[in-house]
Amino acid sequence: MSDMVVAPRRPTRRINVGDVPVGQDAPVCVQSMTNTPTSDVEATLDQVRALVAAGCEVVRVSVPDEESLKGFAALRRSIRIPLVADIHYDSKLAVGSLDAGADAVRINPGNIGSDAKVREVIDAAGSNGASLRIGVNAGSLEKDILKKHGHPGPEALVQSALRSIERVERMGFYSMKLSVKASDPLQTVEAYRLLSDRTDYPLHLGVTEAGTPMTGSVRTAVALSILLSEGIGDTIRVSLAGDPVTEIYAANEILRSLGLQTGIQIVACPTCARAEVDVAGVAAEVERRTRGIRIPLKVAVMGCPVNGPGEARESDVGIAGGKGNVVLFVKGKVKAKLAPDKAVDALMEEIEKLKVEG
Ligand code: SF4
Repeated sequence: MSDMVVAPRRPTRRINVGDVPVGQDAPVCVQSMTNTPTSDVEATLDQVRALVAAGCEVVRVSVPDEESLKGFAALRRSIRIPLVADIHYDSKLAVGSLDAGADAVRINPGNIGSDAKVREVIDAAGSNGASLRIGVNAGSLEKDILKKHGHPGPEALVQSALRSIERVERMGFYSMKLSVKASDPLQTVEAYRLLSDRTDYPLHLGVTEAGTPMTGSVRTAVALSILLSEGIGDTIRVSLAGDPVTEIYAANEILRSLGLQTGIQIVACPTCARAEVDVAGVAAEVERRTRGIRIPLKVAVMGCPVNGPGEARESDVGIAGGKGNVVLFVKGKVKAKLAPDKAVDALMEEIEKLKVEG
């Protein structure tokens, strides 16, 4: 029922992470990272499956040692989703991950070492049809760049990324995406703007070490909504301290708010003394049950007749609290009056019907 406003996209070149295209006109994809020990294959597999069920499209897994490499190889054999191996310092672990079937490796060439070591990684990526992510973080910049700039600000991050791009390009490799993350949202915005002006490689957006689920989601949404609304960004990760499944919910909500992903948009009033129905409970339950749905539907959950009917009528399906009941609206028309405890089931039933109608 609503007119969708969609953020524009700046053109970038296209790469692939497994069968997920990144860049150019591909949809902005959502990724996350496991936080279990990769050597614990069962725990990591459970987490990857939970991420996939929540809508994650690419999963990154850290591979810090040989035991983790064995775990990564077992994981690769057990699941189809594109997997990115996250590597620091050790080219052998990067090569091992690629040989084990990694669809991409995330490296910072600055901490991998000599050209010979970087070349080993590039060659393994090339021969396995994999891509690279050059991931520059404010916390791990090269010493000379840090010395020149005095602090790990946007210019320093971008200089480090450009240096790495040049190094990899000199080796004849071009299938890469880039990230320049800081923990400060506005520094992150500035770094990506600068980088976007200087390269057309696809950009992986994120605010690093963003924080706990609530503060981290808000900080990330602030930075990413500025960038994405300017057309900058081809894939996103919301980095939160906690269960990574929450990262996917936050990432999907950011994309939906910018019209870059379709799905259920729930409108719920904040309630006040006039509320005749448990708005928070109904909205939370409908949100939980509809997270995986990708068709564009607006669902209203409103507490009383003051603003309820108007908002519910403007939605595809909605309820508004009445005197001792709730009024169910479908496509702008009153469909039924129900007991308040039937609100969730009634909304879900109508959502299911609209799903079938497409
Ligand atoms: S819709 Fe009604 S219950 Fe909800 S905030 Fe507005 S006046 Fe209060």
